[in-house]
Amino acid sequence: MNADPDCIFCKIANHEIPATVVYEDDQVIAFDDLSPQAPVHTLVVPKEHYRDITDGVPAEVLASMTHAIDEVAQAKGLGEGFRIISNKGAHAGQTVMHLHVHVLGGKPLGEGLL
Ligand code: 5GP
Ligand code: ZN
Repeated sequence: MNADPDCIFCKIANHEIPATVVYEDDQVIAFDDLSPQAPVHTLVVPKEHYRDITDGVPAEVLASMTHAIDEVAQAKGLGEGFRIISNKGAHAGQTVMHLHVHVLGGKPLGEGLL
């Protein structure tokens, strides 16, 4: 499996550094964001290293991420709805260069950014 030895999310995926894990399977790990921007803020991350959503991510990995988003929503009680965001590149403010989807919810999020 592709991994970048300097990548923090690769290390979390390999359980080399701790995180509050919400869901995990062979392909994906989901854990709470260190700096939450909403009452629920969980990151869904493929275990294999891809830079972002445009980095040739296989369809089966994307399907596993979609499944993991649903698992997070159920585990966190997001039946009233949630928002997903995936930043790519400088203009989006991507800070961790390992593909991740933010799952945000737990309150009405308003219409500030979509
Ligand atoms: P980005 O700005 O790249 O879309 O989001 C990166 C996210 O990763 C940020 O929301 C940041 O709080 C989170 N983050 C960065 N380092 C860590 C870490 O070591 N552990 C956890 N749980 N989250 C992290
Ligand atoms: Zn990585």
